[in-house]
Amino acid sequence: MVVNYKNEPGIDFTNNDNVESFKEALKKVKDELNQKLPLVINGEKIFTKDTSQSINPANTSEVIAEVSKATTKEVDKAFEAADEAYKSWKRWTHRERAEFLIKVAAIIRRRKEEISAVMVYEAGKPWDEAVGDATEGIDFIEYYARSMMELADGKPVLDREGEHNQYFYKPIGTGVTIPPWNFPFAIMAGTTLAPVVAGNTVLLKPAEDTPLTAYKLMEVLEEAGLPKGVVNFVPGDPKEIGDYLVDSVHTHFVTFTGSRATGTRIFERAAKVQEGQQFLKRVIAEMGGKDAIVVDKDIDTDLAAESIVTSAFGFSGQKCSACSRAIVHKDVYDEVLEKAVKLTKSLTLGNTENNTYMGPVINQKQFDKIKNYIEIGKKEGKLEQGGGTDGATGYFVEPTIFSGLKSSDQIMQEEIFGPVVGFVKGKDFNELLEIANDTDYGLTGAVITNNRENWIEAVKAYDVGNLYLNRGCTAAVVGYHPFGGFKMSGTDAKTGSPDYLLNFLEQKVVSEMF
Ligand code: NAD
Repeated sequence: MVVNYKNEPGIDFTNNDNVESFKEALKKVKDELNQKLPLVINGEKIFTKDTSQSINPANTSEVIAEVSKATTKEVDKAFEAADEAYKSWKRWTHRERAEFLIKVAAIIRRRKEEISAVMVYEAGKPWDEAVGDATEGIDFIEYYARSMMELADGKPVLDREGEHNQYFYKPIGTGVTIPPWNFPFAIMAGTTLAPVVAGNTVLLKPAEDTPLTAYKLMEVLEEAGLPKGVVNFVPGDPKEIGDYLVDSVHTHFVTFTGSRATGTRIFERAAKVQEGQQFLKRVIAEMGGKDAIVVDKDIDTDLAAESIVTSAFGFSGQKCSACSRAIVHKDVYDEVLEKAVKLTKSLTLGNTENNTYMGPVINQKQFDKIKNYIEIGKKEGKLEQGGGTDGATGYFVEPTIFSGLKSSDQIMQEEIFGPVVGFVKGKDFNELLEIANDTDYGLTGAVITNNRENWIEAVKAYDVGNLYLNRGCTAAVVGYHPFGGFKMSGTDAKTGSPDYLLNFLEQKVVSEMF
């Protein structure tokens, strides 16, 4: 038996001791930056000549790590190692693997400050967000350990005279984990260790911007005693090894989180049966969002404005669940907009080493893309707040609000993935919902209303995987809010749900006659 699942607490930064302790962690991590990271294949650390750099997005002259790069040759070696390791890893009982995960979580818990501090530098995360990322990683691991224990004995099926039947779960084989940079620890660790606890082996290709954060998990797995070859670390250029990983005849499943463009590409490619392939590949693709907060009339306009601002600008809007559309009833539109602008003016922007509310965006490509959308927004609507950018030392974008938009406008349709929110007005609740659904995406949404009928209608008609009432549309918590989207937001695998591990398991039925 294990104790029930509970969430890992964050760190209370209103307590000065915690602030001092975190500053120490930041200092220690800073002293260890700019080291060379290896590939890890079959437990062996391999340093390649060809490397890439991960840099601090708040200070682009600061190198976070020099990362070895896997080519197709190393990927082949990693597949070989993973296939070999699978032979014995799948023979561990589900319970033995689940207990191993609990040990992994315990080590991460001890290194929580260190791992969070790495994300402050490597992803530009504000302190709270960085700690939230590390603790969510712990939550995923603890949760999946318990899920696996629950599935360990299979499920009951009927016996009849002379026949005994069993229904149980078995792993699938070797697979590939491809995480994004925006939750570089939580999503990376969750999508790596869910298939692993189910008895599969994995090639982990971390996001290019956040390899050091991912390498911290490899250190933990080594410390915990994971058998070699079960998780292989293969950072590399996705243009060189991305398709190769997905197309491989060794790949039984791909668990991907990232953009719609990459996700749909992986989905298509994995559908093609390669020569010698004896199974159909499974693809879990959790992709982008164009999430909205719908604001009804007769509501608390302070709550509405606060929900919009925190959901739009937390981690600089770089969350798949970030609010990029505020869809507001005409009766409260002006008031909510005014309050949102006022609140936004109070946010601090800068290097998150100094615990600002907002930090940089992740890289040059995103910086340029967001700047371009701000220019488009100026043509499509009215710039109410922000709009400024500063690329002198890092990739800083002011929290930006546009008003007077139409649902069909480009900035209301395309995922920006930065601190930009657009306001659009609706004449009644039905129109607000129509606008909310007028998107290819269906990840998260929130409705601020005091009208129960409207809420019931939203539950039925608002087409999103995660819907919230009277709060913002970000901050899903493992165990409370299984997470995943509809439409072009992905395959709705619902991470952190009681069903998630089924993505990595086959159900076997054994019928014995006697
Ligand atoms: P991205 O698609 O650029 O990259 C994601 C991962 O895919 C990276 O590891 C990258 O190296 C890899 N990749 C790129 N090209 C590839 C290819 N051809 N083959 C295989 N792998 C390839 O996305 P990103 O910019 O890192 O992440 C941001 C996106 O992620 C946003 O769209 C956001 O909404 C989405 N996201 C979704 C969720 C969710 O749960 N739905 C969670 C977080 C982020």
